[in-house]
Amino acid sequence: MKNEQNVPVRKEAWEASKQIGRELAPQILALVRLRNQAAHSLGYSDYFQMQLDLQEIDGPWLLKTFDDLSQRSNAAYLEVLEEIEQAQIAQFHVEVKELGPWAWGEPFCQEDPLDSHELDQLVEGVDFSQSAAAFYTRMGIDVDPILQHSDMYERPGKNQHAFCINMDREEDIRTLNNVNSTIKWLETVLHELGHAIYEMGFEPHLPWLLKEPPHMITTEAMALIAGRKAYTADSLRRLVGEKPKALLQLADRSLKRRQLIFSRWVLVMTAFESELYRNPDQDLNTLWWHLVEKYQKIRAPKDRSGKWDWAAKYHIGLAPAYYYSYLLGEMFASAIEETLVKECQASLESPQAGKLLNKKLFGPGNRMPWNDLVHHVTGDFLTPDAWIREFASVRELDLR
Ligand SMILES: [Zn+2]
Repeated sequence: MKNEQNVPVRKEAWEASKQIGRELAPQILALVRLRNQAAHSLGYSDYFQMQLDLQEIDGPWLLKTFDDLSQRSNAAYLEVLEEIEQAQIAQFHVEVKELGPWAWGEPFCQEDPLDSHELDQLVEGVDFSQSAAAFYTRMGIDVDPILQHSDMYERPGKNQHAFCINMDREEDIRTLNNVNSTIKWLETVLHELGHAIYEMGFEPHLPWLLKEPPHMITTEAMALIAGRKAYTADSLRRLVGEKPKALLQLADRSLKRRQLIFSRWVLVMTAFESELYRNPDQDLNTLWWHLVEKYQKIRAPKDRSGKWDWAAKYHIGLAPAYYYSYLLGEMFASAIEETLVKECQASLESPQAGKLLNKKLFGPGNRMPWNDLVHHVTGDFLTPDAWIREFASVRELDLR
């Protein structure tokens, strides 16, 4: 779906990606009912609500916050969608009403389909380990011990993903990557090291059990801020050297697009899961496409009724009730960036920023609930405001 030009073949490939849904749906539904049964036995209305409660997320707050974010980023998203659809019309020689998920680069329309290999020119010949080490040195943080323990490059038979792992909650922190020469992998190396410096920063006297983040949101935020720098002009110049301005601008624009596109996908996933657990007996495929049209504003293909498209997404079955964390992490990341400017008059790549994050964000480990930690770092509880200012400012200008 990234490269195929033939429309019928693309449609067929998209359809094929949904076939797994039919195989899995009955089993996922059995699992959903079991999860609900366990939640009921503990006095919760359903499993989704139980998971939110156990993760210290206030359910009504979450839905209200996402609703707010969705409305305030609507104009900016529509602008991005227009840009994408124009490109798709030109690429596939179809009319706008014929467009659908088949025209995107992956089956769920969660990634930027305009993401081009052009941007990979930016990282040609760059040594990512060296470049990332220099990045963190600018924050006053030495990541060499982590890199020495890390597995950086592709090889046959190796796990194909990327992650960070703290082996002993002492000093042995490692990352696994599969670096190849793309901007995506520069982002990923910075991202995983962001998790790693968080783990490195726990106050040493904390008991073992508290040497962890209070929630995925807070460590994701650090990793996300660092990863974003692979696309922002100022940081890019330092990471990869001086490059043509047009290319840097393209990278910057692609970051904004990706933020808006992915946020819509999180809204679909969160609303769907919340409804799935509230009532697993409803017409789930109709619900799924209703949400895709509502948030992603992508036309549902005809003839999807009675199918199991929702069940083809890995997380629905096997990583339930946590997708929302990605967007809360992005919101917190934007809030941290504003705090750094306010508190240190400096960007992320400064010793002052490194110091502040070490002391306030990493140091406390799991001593306070995640939302208190957010307040501890930024002086405020989590809202979408900073994220909206950073990525969806069109709307705010329109309102004035
Ligand atoms: Zn991460």
